[in-house]
Amino acid sequence: MKGTKHEHDDAAAALRQTSLRVTKQRVAVLGAVRDHPHADTETVIRSVRESLPAVSHQAVYDSLHTLTEVGLVRCIRPAGSVARYERRIGDNHHHLVCRSCNLIVDVDCTIGQAPCLTPSHDAGFVIEQAEVTFWGLCPDCAAAGAQPTGDDQFSVV
Ligand SMILES: [Zn+2]
Ligand SMILES: [Zn+2]
Repeated sequence: MKGTKHEHDDAAAALRQTSLRVTKQRVAVLGAVRDHPHADTETVIRSVRESLPAVSHQAVYDSLHTLTEVGLVRCIRPAGSVARYERRIGDNHHHLVCRSCNLIVDVDCTIGQAPCLTPSHDAGFVIEQAEVTFWGLCPDCAAAGAQPTGDDQFSVV
């Protein structure tokens, strides 16, 4: 499935709906983010280099930044983690994060639209969104008897 014509065309189509120019790099970065949900920058770079071996770190960083700005890619930063990128956008979904192995899993929005939590008081703010991260142990780590670590020990893969 990876790098098929269909995916290539789809990424290009998504780019065409923005004001961005369709470049090989941006198409490759979008494809990499879709193939590796919640990937960190290093993973995206490795994946992009499978189709564009000469691409620079900086070019991938720049593409990720630009694609995030126009909303084609969502950037999440669980506490203690490096930035992670995903193609699943616009649905206000949340994340389950394993404290032991850093696995990140999507979970649908609690009520279906933002903000899905109501603060006990809003201090006059116009509330747009609640970012929810559920922390715990994934099934494998729980079965292996891993102990959840504190935030300060959260290690980055
Ligand atoms: Zn785990
Ligand atoms: Zn996600």
